[in-house]
Amino acid sequence: MSGTEALSNLAREERRFPPDPQFAAQANVTAEAYEAAAADRLGFWQTQADRLLWSKRWTQTLDWQPPFAKWFADGTLNAAVNCVDRHVADGYGDQVAIYFEGEPGDRLELTYAELLSQVSRAANALTELGVKTGDRVAIYLPMITEAVIAMLACARIGAPHSVIFGGFSAQALFDRITDADATLVITADGGYRRGAVSALKPAVDEALAKGETNVKHVLVVKRGGNEVAWTPERDVWWDEVLQRQQDTHEAPALPAEHPLFILYTSGTTGKPKGILHTTGGYLTQTAYTHHAVFDLKPDSDVYWCTADIGWVTGHSYIVYGPLANRASIVLYEGTPDTPDRGRFWEIVQRYRVTLLYTAPTAIRTFMKWGDEIPAKYDLSSLRLLGSVGEPINPEAWIWYRRAIGAEKTPVVDTWWQTETGAMMISPLPGVTAAKPGSATRGLPGISVDVVDNEGTPVGNGGGGFLVLTEPWPSMLRGIWGDPERYQQTYWSRFSEQGYYFAGDGAKKDDDGDLWLLGRVDDVMLVSGHNISTTEVESALVSHPAVAEAAVVGATDPTTGQGIVAFVILRGDATDGQTLVAELRAHVASEIGAIAKPRQILIVPELPKTRSGKIMRRLLRDVAENRQIGDVTTLADSTVMNLISEKLPAAASED
Ligand code: ATP
Ligand code: MG
Repeated sequence: MSGTEALSNLAREERRFPPDPQFAAQANVTAEAYEAAAADRLGFWQTQADRLLWSKRWTQTLDWQPPFAKWFADGTLNAAVNCVDRHVADGYGDQVAIYFEGEPGDRLELTYAELLSQVSRAANALTELGVKTGDRVAIYLPMITEAVIAMLACARIGAPHSVIFGGFSAQALFDRITDADATLVITADGGYRRGAVSALKPAVDEALAKGETNVKHVLVVKRGGNEVAWTPERDVWWDEVLQRQQDTHEAPALPAEHPLFILYTSGTTGKPKGILHTTGGYLTQTAYTHHAVFDLKPDSDVYWCTADIGWVTGHSYIVYGPLANRASIVLYEGTPDTPDRGRFWEIVQRYRVTLLYTAPTAIRTFMKWGDEIPAKYDLSSLRLLGSVGEPINPEAWIWYRRAIGAEKTPVVDTWWQTETGAMMISPLPGVTAAKPGSATRGLPGISVDVVDNEGTPVGNGGGGFLVLTEPWPSMLRGIWGDPERYQQTYWSRFSEQGYYFAGDGAKKDDDGDLWLLGRVDDVMLVSGHNISTTEVESALVSHPAVAEAAVVGATDPTTGQGIVAFVILRGDATDGQTLVAELRAHVASEIGAIAKPRQILIVPELPKTRSGKIMRRLLRDVAENRQIGDVTTLADSTVMNLISEKLPAAASED
């Protein structure tokens, strides 16, 4: 990507959303946070770390041996104590910690006191099953309270968990169990997915039959009520073993750098990486960012993050950040369209959700389904909306704020990665004048920049590679078992400057605000111009007929690469050649003739990872008539056939 590409429609976005004065007046964090952090970055993070409960306070804030960081290393604490015991001790035992909503409509409320007793029992159970501090535990569960309890029980005894998304296959499960070398797997008989019971235990059985593992026990939660095969000695019912435990447990004080979890990335760009996170710095930054960006008021807010616990968003912003801050959270087991397309809004209405965190993929789907659906529900409790996972198209941002946020809520577009552990770039809702489609700037205490090929900062108005220029508390401590790949993937691209390379392209507008442009690997080169996939996609989505778009660069004999666009229409829009011509003209007028797609294919679905991100590399294979590459992280493998069928019909019009 060149450093000074002038072409940009995104950064020309002129709509501004300054904070509502009433919101600003009550916000947890003011503009002073930026100043405090700029004046003394490490001092700022010490202040945030002091919000936690430490068994022994640290003396050294940061030990930085590039690219290996230790934060608060000589301090000790326990993550579970911070997320649970502390609040009970402070007198909040009766506060609801989790409002659980099962897919079939069953409900459960768990107070902090109840959560403490469950986590203590589970910690005792893990110990009885032979799990020791440092042993890895694989968790393969639906979105039920036991998933949160299991994670916290692992954290409590210092056994790093590796949560594996419940939609993964036996092979993916086997790969992750062996890579992390887990000794225990926690699963369920089944979970509810689109009205049916999903087979979790059979996948574990199949995974463990695939080869040699160190798994001694499989702990099985009863959820689906379905029959499951049983391997005596190895398999144990969760209820049975928990029942015989004491409901108190003495939590050890663990070093701040004790491993908290290993989590595999979404696999959007290739083979997933086992990202290692540790305790003190991770908890400091997840708790601080949740407090600052979501403006949580623990006494009155109801917070709902719709991510799955199998992704980093579920770790940092369902479990650790919110619970460290004593949030009352909603946990929902199922999909947005079960039993109908109003399910999310019914949940917001029922629990009077005030803070909602979801992903652009969901927002675009709701847009496609139409405004009438959310309009049927009372969403007036909402006071802040968040987005994460992909760049949010300006039109989707506007829709989110209007159709869900009643044109009054702040919208926070948060950029971060599995590797960063917590949010890095985001508006502060009481401070920042938001721009739809811009994640705005680095959070207080975070040093980010955009650099060119040589690693030189591009300055305002320029574009290039997003980098992190200073270590941050919740940064990954490595790729599990592969220090070489850690160096190579993140630290070799700008080794001279010592910058962390995020793999994403970004642009700085004239105010210095950041616009994320998608993966560096996805940038297209058309007649010598770098064009970002995000920009063309957002131009397409700004057309009223389009709900969602994915574009790729396909080899082109004359232009080097030609733009091929895959488009999903909104509910009421109709397919047709006139529309295709109109969309091409629309992109030309939004960005410039150079960005006009060579081909536009109207498709019913797009290939997405199981975390809902568009997998452009597979679309590139289609556009270039190649054998389709590795689809193991794809959510639905039949999607690729649906798309391939469309290809011959789509002709270029120039
Ligand atoms: P893999 O690294 O295995 O290819 P992945 O990068 O999709 O998978 P995650 O860590 O879940 O795995 O995703 C992080 C990426 O998601 C970021 O690098 C960025 O590309 C994208 N992303 C997340 N939030 C935002 C956002 N607010 N704006 C733009 N992009 C975002
Ligand atoms: Mg990634």
